[in-house]
Amino acid sequence: MIDRACISLNSRCNLNCVYCHFAAKKNNQNTKQNEFSADEVNMFCLNLYSYIKENNVNAFKLGIVGSGEPLLSFAQLKRIVEFFYNSDINEKIKMYVISNGTLLNDEIIDFFYDYQSIVELNVSLDGDPEINKKLRGAFPDFAVYKNKFNAMPKINAVVTKEIILNSERILDFFVGNGFTKINFSKVFAVDNPGMTVSDSEYEQFLLLAKSLGIESRQNNGKKKADCAKYGNLCGVGLNNIFITKTGIYPCGRFMDMKNYVIGAWGEPLSVIEQKMKRFKACPQGECYFEYNKVGE
Ligand code: SF4
Repeated sequence: MIDRACISLNSRCNLNCVYCHFAAKKNNQNTKQNEFSADEVNMFCLNLYSYIKENNVNAFKLGIVGSGEPLLSFAQLKRIVEFFYNSDINEKIKMYVISNGTLLNDEIIDFFYDYQSIVELNVSLDGDPEINKKLRGAFPDFAVYKNKFNAMPKINAVVTKEIILNSERILDFFVGNGFTKINFSKVFAVDNPGMTVSDSEYEQFLLLAKSLGIESRQNNGKKKADCAKYGNLCGVGLNNIFITKTGIYPCGRFMDMKNYVIGAWGEPLSVIEQKMKRFKACPQGECYFEYNKVGE
């Protein structure tokens, strides 16, 4: 059964992070070409709604995430959230948005505040302004979020070698500035070997974060099928799909790979569920992409 999906509303971004594997994809050339229109978003919502109803899915997680920056498609994002909020399955679906945080304004924050029962805004941040500007090129202004929520948002941090080498400084920055809920994902698909981290470096880093009181999905001991790069199990072939205008893929790492397109974004998800059975789940803890040497 599919109970997790990510949708990439566009393939545009206003930043150019050094490790972004999407930036190299041919379908991700910062144009409007691969953006979902309002009508297409409506079709997607109806498709997902039907799947959840017909299969009696009790807890569905929908991520509104990259390949591009989701807030560049804020109108479409609102449409999805409002659709499910106003539906009779609003208890069964939870959504999250991963944004680089540089486009936040009062209108956007008011929206996330009003709909916080169903959608959560997560901001990508790798540490203090110095390191974030080096890796991502910008540092978000969190004041607008803090003023409304009286707290800092949940963070998504990419763990690269640079983060490992500066772990204490970076974790102190997070804790000292009120960022206490952080998802740490291990960098992948980068050409620069100097950027990658080993499993043991990653595990040590997670332990240090835990010792400082940082709450993290990677530290809570629960192993759900999602992505091994987030410290969970790989969901490929099990429960997880990545939806883009160019097709549905097992996860974002497969974007653009014709042999790995499961189907078109408009196909009924019950059909997609059948088609994804051709992917045999890999052993616990492994990444399907790496375990099966995809792309080599
Ligand atoms: S294939 Fe690798 S990157 Fe994709 S979901 Fe599985 S663990 Fe994550």
